Amino acid sequence: MNSETAILPFEAPRRRSLQARVRWGDHLVTVGGDAPVRIQSMTNTDTVDAIGTAIQVKELALAGSELVRITVNTPEAAAQVPYIREQLDRMGIQVPLVGDFHYNGHRLLTEHPDCAKALSKYRINPGNVGKGDKKDKQFAQMIEAALKHDVPVRIGVNWGSLDQELLAELMDENGRRAQPWDAKSVMYQALIDSALGSAAYAVELGMDPGQVIISCKVSGVQDLVTVYRELNRRTTHPLHLGLTEAGMGTKGTVASTAALALLLQEGIGDTIRVSLTPQPGEARTQEVVVASEILQSLGLRAFNPSVTACPGCGRTTSTTFQELAKQIDDFLREQMPVWRKKYPGVESMKVAVMGCIVNGPGESKHADIGISLPGTGEAPAAPVFIDGEKRLTLRGDGIAREFQALVEDYIEKRYASVTA
Ligand code: SF4
Repeated sequence: MNSETAILPFEAPRRRSLQARVRWGDHLVTVGGDAPVRIQSMTNTDTVDAIGTAIQVKELALAGSELVRITVNTPEAAAQVPYIREQLDRMGIQVPLVGDFHYNGHRLLTEHPDCAKALSKYRINPGNVGKGDKKDKQFAQMIEAALKHDVPVRIGVNWGSLDQELLAELMDENGRRAQPWDAKSVMYQALIDSALGSAAYAVELGMDPGQVIISCKVSGVQDLVTVYRELNRRTTHPLHLGLTEAGMGTKGTVASTAALALLLQEGIGDTIRVSLTPQPGEARTQEVVVASEILQSLGLRAFNPSVTACPGCGRTTSTTFQELAKQIDDFLREQMPVWRKKYPGVESMKVAVMGCIVNGPGESKHADIGISLPGTGEAPAAPVFIDGEKRLTLRGDGIAREFQALVEDYIEKRYASVTA
């Protein structure tokens, strides 16, 4: 039976949140409101090593990180922050720097005003601000610094460093319930109360509510979804999203993707970070690559031309098409820092590299430019499709090189004209 109702493409709802302004000089990055979902990352260098940190910040920024967080844990580290900023400015890297503070942030921000000034946002962990009657005072000192330098803060709660006094209080309260909640529910409540309570206090101290970003990070996918759905229900502060301690390699990538995709699909999340543990020898920028792929796969943003490649099967026993797909993908990514400015719109381009005649021509026709390589037993010819039409056929040993040249030519003709 035919339906008369058109099947419409899914459109993620947009969360109605306030907007934070994170800036360095003339460079403004808005978070929340009508801004696109932002990508953040964090360095793993010793901040005292100012040059090493500046280089890694630059790499992360060039990979697409729109905000980069650095650890500020000691007076020595705080002293280097203005120098790191200066190095970045010299290299023409305007990415705003976020300071990550725990335990002594109140002192570092007060005693190192140049550090406080060089940072564009402060991350405050309410679980690590201080104990007893010192807590509010030390929190207020950090907010005072944020107000003085007109920067937003992130109230970043993490279940690994949850406010133990608050948790104990909520456990006691739970014990008095006729029907106590299970321990997880109390933990969810503690995470959310800690974030919302601290955010409310920051506003009471004079922060513009939009300048207070909130995060509640946990390491379980379903826990993260539960907590953020509740945050979404209860607050309009911008939300930073991330699965903490996601882990390494495939596990970390899949867990982060699952958690973030579920929430982003519901419109929840104004900024994201993928907390991957780098594998030995792996670049720190991998977390930015994964974050941008998540947003691009969900159709929320476009960063790089996408390469559609088939998985291969018994019809293709050579590795030619895998090598070509990788070569094209690497080539496009390498060129993007330059192309992004030179060829506006190129980030939405689709390239297909397919292994045989079964789906090759069809998929290639759907791409802007695509190639269908010969599978086992097929004639040694690779038809190339441009804008849905078969334009030529490549043969011989130079297919990879020739296809790459065709891609470059396509980009030059199609996207350079946009700027002309
Ligand atoms: S396009 Fe061909 S080689 Fe690729 S997965 Fe499909 S059948 Fe296999």
